[in-house]
Amino acid sequence: MSFSQETTFEVIHCTICGISFGLPKHYIDNKQDDKTTFKCPNDHALSYPNLSRVEILTQLTQLKTQVAEQSKRFAQQTAFLDQLEAELESLKKTPPEGK
Ligand SMILES: [Zn+2]
Repeated sequence: MSFSQETTFEVIHCTICGISFGLPKHYIDNKQDDKTTFKCPNDHALSYPNLSRVEILTQLTQLKTQVAEQSKRFAQQTAFLDQLEAELESLKKTPPEGK
């Protein structure tokens, strides 16, 4: 009996001793999300203290929403300014009353 399975490994570099070693990608993904420690082959504790992928995706989504809202507001204000400029130009072309 035999079976075949494909597993993607990522290379990790220990920040303490510098050794490079491979770990399955799903294991690294979980460590990035739960921020728990794991060890290099020389027994140094390592972790991902930065934001998790979920937190980064959440912040990215929020920022994209903010940018979209700001862009919409900017377009509305630009259209309003264009309207004011057009009104100003038409007033310049209209002779003053009584002349
Ligand atoms: Zn190490």
